[in-house]
Amino acid sequence: MSAAGGAGAERRVVVIGAGPRGLSAVERFAARSAATGTRVRLDVVDPFPPGPGHVWRTDQSPLYLMNTPSLFPTAVPDDGVLPVDPLPPLRGMSFERWRLAVVAGEITIDADDAAHLTRMTPRSYPSRRMYGVYLEWVLRTLREALPPTAELHAHRAEAVGVHVRGQARHRYDVEISGGQNLPADAVVLALGHLDADLRPDQKELVDGAAEFGLDYRPPAVPADVHWDALPAGETVLVRGMGLNFCDVLAQVTEGRGGIYTQEGERMRYHPSGREPVIVAGSRRGVPYRAKGEFGGYYADGARPHHFTLEAVRALAARTRGKLSFDADLWPLIRKDAVRHYYAVLARTAPEAFETDPQRFLQELDAVLASGDDHPEGPWASRAEALVATAVVPGRNISAARLARPFEGVSFDSHDAFAAAVVHHLDRDVHGALAAEDDPVRMAIASLNASRTVLKAVLADIGIDDASWHDELRRSFEPFVEGLTSGPPVLRIQQLAALARAGVVRFLGPDPQFRVDEEAGCFVGTSPWVQDEPVHARHLVEAMSPPNDVRRNISPLLTSMHREGLVRVRALDTVDGVATVPSTGLDVTAAPYRAVRVDGGAEPGIFVLGLQLSAVQWGVAIAAEAGASAELGARTLADADRVAEAVLAPRPARSGPLPARPGALPSGE
Ligand SMILES: Cc1cc2nc3c(=O)[nH]c(=O)nc-3n(C[C@H](O)[C@H](O)[C@H](O)COP(=O)(O)OP(=O)(O)OC[C@H]3O[C@@H](n4cnc5c(N)ncnc54)[C@H](O)[C@@H]3O)c2cc1C
Repeated sequence: MSAAGGAGAERRVVVIGAGPRGLSAVERFAARSAATGTRVRLDVVDPFPPGPGHVWRTDQSPLYLMNTPSLFPTAVPDDGVLPVDPLPPLRGMSFERWRLAVVAGEITIDADDAAHLTRMTPRSYPSRRMYGVYLEWVLRTLREALPPTAELHAHRAEAVGVHVRGQARHRYDVEISGGQNLPADAVVLALGHLDADLRPDQKELVDGAAEFGLDYRPPAVPADVHWDALPAGETVLVRGMGLNFCDVLAQVTEGRGGIYTQEGERMRYHPSGREPVIVAGSRRGVPYRAKGEFGGYYADGARPHHFTLEAVRALAARTRGKLSFDADLWPLIRKDAVRHYYAVLARTAPEAFETDPQRFLQELDAVLASGDDHPEGPWASRAEALVATAVVPGRNISAARLARPFEGVSFDSHDAFAAAVVHHLDRDVHGALAAEDDPVRMAIASLNASRTVLKAVLADIGIDDASWHDELRRSFEPFVEGLTSGPPVLRIQQLAALARAGVVRFLGPDPQFRVDEEAGCFVGTSPWVQDEPVHARHLVEAMSPPNDVRRNISPLLTSMHREGLVRVRALDTVDGVATVPSTGLDVTAAPYRAVRVDGGAEPGIFVLGLQLSAVQWGVAIAAEAGASAELGARTLADADRVAEAVLAPRPARSGPLPARPGALPSGE
């Protein structure tokens, strides 16, 4: 903020990125401007439509579904969650409240969209374009409700640079495509999902594709890709079986006229004849687990008991130095998952026990309430010993088996592996539908609940850098993602149906993809399936570009780094002796001011959302309706703190804040 920007003076704020995070920032500035009377001019910059932005644009296929149910997401805080409530027409307007208001005729939108919303329930999974319609409505409503103290201007452009103007009236100029400069006292970076450089092995695939005239599709937001070009009847290799995989399948099946019919828990696929033959592989060899059909986003019966914020705060207070994930947090997370699994097993399958299930649970609780300093050994080995004596072999829970159901198992043909996967998918569907009555699903639900607590722990308490890098990001994250970030059960039913119909086949775990120079095509293999390699002229990377500022392609970040305004956060891996770059920008504590290359905090540049991935975990998810600022509504609280800092009724310092050591050059 400029020295001229004292109380009463208008603040000029440029918000770069007008997806959900940028929209939340605008909403917070407007609400706080109305509450404080501080005048603010907001310039919002995005080449995509403001509100939906890139990911949620309304012109995309309705077959792209959210992986969070209607009752989950929101772009505005609930009343009382933040110090200042939203402007009146937006109060309480989560996606689900908006949907109900449309259904009740209180809000008018396109008739087809309204009819679609009427057919939904709180537990339906909205299409992404429908969430975009909601975001558009939030922005429109916000515009109409702006207080006289706030002005909002949207620019359909890309920001390409931020320049410090020293003693000028406004500290920054934001340069946008087309050459215009937007003066600003504060700049909010809400850049979200950015494109990224390919890995060396992916670049080889690009080169091979160019040499042999093949079709290679790098990681992308699915709505950016023209799926029509994948020819009917031809083999298409697909790497990745997460959410983007479901998107690819939807486009080449239902998107081409195929139809599903329901047969009990299963579905049957009726092909249109225009489908390609998909051969998919991923590290685990199986897709993400289906979301359980619980009453809400969380399972009522899987609330954290051991891994709570209070427990971790107490632990942190007793611990000298920083906590570590494996030593301090994972044991508590694991205890909860174990407890929930066996509680449901005891209730639904008493025959799975060789002793009285209730007595077993009491003994288990006693073990879980203890630690590693017990005379009979660490709690985990005592729990294992107890399970070994009380639970029928094969009915115990194993984290390794959960994560990789085919770990160490070889198959002698593609058909044998496909049969095993389809069986796994059917069981997954059964468990997801059984929901609170399925022990495995409840262990997963427990991990999901812990994940939310973990986000707060990591942001507010923190763990040591080496643990963040090696234990959290490398090990726990892929494990928990595959279990808890999965698609609606419908998608797994559809996948099993497609496999039965022969439209989808599976390559096997740990797949390798390369260009076969002799055959002039791609080839996919798995070390676990002893069958012919799969050859194809098409290879799809079914994943979004990684969220990693070292690899992201952003002329804006490159320019800002060149001008010394941002840097990548370095993680100390060995007691401050060695560092490794993280995936996120370096920032101060909330309100997350950017840390410059010289180590000083840049007073008027704030970071929100995905580029905070070095100080927050699980940044790519919508804010949760009905959640507290500490937990699911954290991203809204982050935006609120930025608005509070910028609109504070005091003359802000105009110069940079002091430097701190440890700068690490950005990879850009
Ligand atoms: C395909 C996909 C599906 C998802 N599905 C779900 C889901 O079902 N549920 C859920 O909770 N989360 C989902 N997410 C996670 C997602 O991260 C968040 O829900 C949310 O979109 C994050 O909002 P954001 O504003 O930070 O990022 P984004 O939505 O990516 O928006 C960032 C905006 O910044 C703009 N931008 C970037 N650089 C510049 C620049 N230099 N100048 C101007 N503008 C710029 C972009 O154009 C974009 O519009 C999904 C993400 C993806 C990619």
